[in-house]
Amino acid sequence: MNILVLNCGSSSIKYQLLNMQAGPVVLAKGIVEKIGLAKGAFTHKPEGKEKYEATLPIPDHMAGMDLVLQALTDKQHGVINSLEEINAAGHRIAHGGEYFSQSVLITPEVKEKIAACSEIAPLHNPAHLKGIDTMERLLPTIPQVAVFDTSFHQTLPAEAYLYGIDYEYYKKYSIRKFGFHGTSHKFVAEKACKLLEWKIEEKKIITCHLGNGSSITAINKGKSVDTSMGFTPVAGVVMGTRCGDLDVGALLYICEKRGLSTAEAVAFANKESGVMGISGVSSDFRELHAAAESGNERAKLALEVFCYNVKKYVGSYAAVLNGVDLLIFTGGIGENDHVVRSIVSSNLEFLGFRFNDEINKVTRGKDQILSTPDSKAVIMSITTDEELVIALDTLHIVQTK
Ligand code: ADP
Repeated sequence: MNILVLNCGSSSIKYQLLNMQAGPVVLAKGIVEKIGLAKGAFTHKPEGKEKYEATLPIPDHMAGMDLVLQALTDKQHGVINSLEEINAAGHRIAHGGEYFSQSVLITPEVKEKIAACSEIAPLHNPAHLKGIDTMERLLPTIPQVAVFDTSFHQTLPAEAYLYGIDYEYYKKYSIRKFGFHGTSHKFVAEKACKLLEWKIEEKKIITCHLGNGSSITAINKGKSVDTSMGFTPVAGVVMGTRCGDLDVGALLYICEKRGLSTAEAVAFANKESGVMGISGVSSDFRELHAAAESGNERAKLALEVFCYNVKKYVGSYAAVLNGVDLLIFTGGIGENDHVVRSIVSSNLEFLGFRFNDEINKVTRGKDQILSTPDSKAVIMSITTDEELVIALDTLHIVQTK
């Protein structure tokens, strides 16, 4: 069975076609960008063949999806003979609100609920719906599945998801912590337990997904019990360009001082802050390290703030879980940045962790135990694969429907 995994943004479509029997293996992946602009961009990478790139106007999602389907079946850079070889589609959906605690087959009712969540995820859900509608029109006979960033965190208890505001705002506007990156947190926790031959139902785990967006999750017996992102993905640890936890009083003060509109305040918190804002150098951790090594004090400071933020969440989630058996690093930074892992993991002996920095220093982009054999609790680096989770969930749902 071949599954097309889609992540449709407001002006982009990211895709992967996976053959599920053969591995699963990725047959092709790519991205359509700048949909609706004068010059759109299309990149298609078929497995074992040369990359195909094109710059052309891509007026809407329909035109974008057409390009993808054409490329997948193209004589030269295609990987399948006809569209009939696509058996199902799995969509990444940013926000499932309180409606979805797991992945689901897409039906008209499901679409209505995804649309209902558009109000709290205006940048993402409408674009996902466009992707779903487009696929329904282009490949009307195949089943489509929705996989939500938020669903894994639907097990949070009320004490963890409620904010300290008038309860009416929760009831009326769904103002609460939802959490994101759920597919990744769930995937790496399960993968690590499989590798360690542990039963996840018996374990207390803290997962650190550290990338351009970062979030930390406390997992008890396989269930998310707290997570650092909130009502939106701007909360929690300091990120590439997002501010993370910020005193609302400070934000209101900045708005007043600078006369910011709501949209400008959103841009300020999401795009102009984080390690980029602190350093003035970059949101990219490789560039931050390079600048810090050449003596840039603000880049150094940004890295220190980031590591301190992550460590603080690890400590607080250890308290939430009443101890911890396993600490996992994943995401572009978590999988590759040994300096960040080392700073976060050092001086955690009181929690039972003994860190092996020799192994840590040479670990990049792989599944690896980073604690010493005599460490009571385990530290690991685990590679994440959100597209694979979407494909596996899609396969499971399609096969059991
Ligand atoms: P996204 O949230 O967009 O999926 P990623 O998970 O790809 O982001 O993470 C991107 C971050 O990972 C960037 O800050 C990048 O600098 C960092 N990163 C990637 N490779 C390395 C590396 N070898 N060393 C340090 N940081 C890295």
